[in-house]
Amino acid sequence: MIDAPAASAVHANVSRAVNLLDLAPDEALDELARFIAAEGEASYRAAQIFARLWQRPVASFEDMSEVPKALRQRLGEHFTIPRLELQARQTSSDGTEKFLFRLADGQSIETVAIPEGNRLTLCISSQAGCALQCAFCATGAMGFQRNLTPSEIAGQVRELRLLDPPLLATNIVFMGMGEPLMNWNAVDRTLTLLNDPRALGIGARHITISTVGVLPGIEALAARKEQFRLAISIHAPSDELRRSLMPVNVKYPLSDVIRAAAEFDRRVTFEYVMLDGVNDHPEHAAMLATLARECRAFVNLIPLHPGGSLGFNPTPASRMAAFSRAIRARGVEVAIRKSRGLDIAAACGQLRTERLGRRLPVAP
Ligand code: SAH
Repeated sequence: MIDAPAASAVHANVSRAVNLLDLAPDEALDELARFIAAEGEASYRAAQIFARLWQRPVASFEDMSEVPKALRQRLGEHFTIPRLELQARQTSSDGTEKFLFRLADGQSIETVAIPEGNRLTLCISSQAGCALQCAFCATGAMGFQRNLTPSEIAGQVRELRLLDPPLLATNIVFMGMGEPLMNWNAVDRTLTLLNDPRALGIGARHITISTVGVLPGIEALAARKEQFRLAISIHAPSDELRRSLMPVNVKYPLSDVIRAAAEFDRRVTFEYVMLDGVNDHPEHAAMLATLARECRAFVNLIPLHPGGSLGFNPTPASRMAAFSRAIRARGVEVAIRKSRGLDIAAACGQLRTERLGRRLPVAP
């Protein structure tokens, strides 16, 4: 190892400091092993330090109390483990909690924690804002800012582990801000960080990617060997209606999305947000059931969170129940999703919208 003068070495390293939280487990372990060898430390230290990134996370290198002080300092000169800054935390009367995080460049993203029995589902964001402009969605209304990095996506789960007392997620859904399959490279690596037993260790069947139907992304997800779950936001059973609610339907029409769902080797879920007088007629139920049968999908009917909607109203509960029965009568499994966190505006994009004000989309 070359012995550079201390001050300049520190300077050079800080500017090239590697963010360990952006690396897949094998890469991070390699980096740490090289560093440990160069420092002349015992090789077991690499795995010991790695365990403190995700499994039993620490807020900073200084908190790695089992690592000698001098080594902790050298770690801080070579690497970073950046935090997300918690800006707001709101608790709903039903136990749902919503977190607003501020990123290094000032962007804000949301994470929602939904307890149910022994489960704790985290709804995480994959982009700051969203480009898709679905007509009823608050995130769409704020426009697209940027993709999140793996350390910002998996970092949401890590931050909740760092709370006192910690919130330990058993399930993850990519149903926060953004379209995960339009940020595939970062989401791909995040899936590894979430699932790898050496990192966050959440079972693949407990991790759900929700998408509007970005076809290349669905193929990439299908190519992964783990059993990650796929949910598709259908929201309308015809191209015409879907185009009016979801502009992305022009690029990825319903028939292509249905074909991709049928080819996906695991059971998919259809998400269908119910909009009063728009997509909740009995004939919509019949058409939706036909599509679901084509790809053996499970249908999840979602009550509209009114706070985030732009001129839409939720379908009344009785009509939602009838819609559900009509689908079940056609041999399709269906459930009505319970609305959670209504009093804290927990639907997609609503907290950030409340805090930062809404920017209406420019009329086409
Ligand atoms: N872009 C992805 C994931 C984020 S949105 C997708 O669209 O699937 C997660 C789910 O919340 C989607 O099904 C979305 O359509 C739905 N959603 C958006 N706004 C909503 C609202 N106001 N009420 C209920 N569900 C909403």
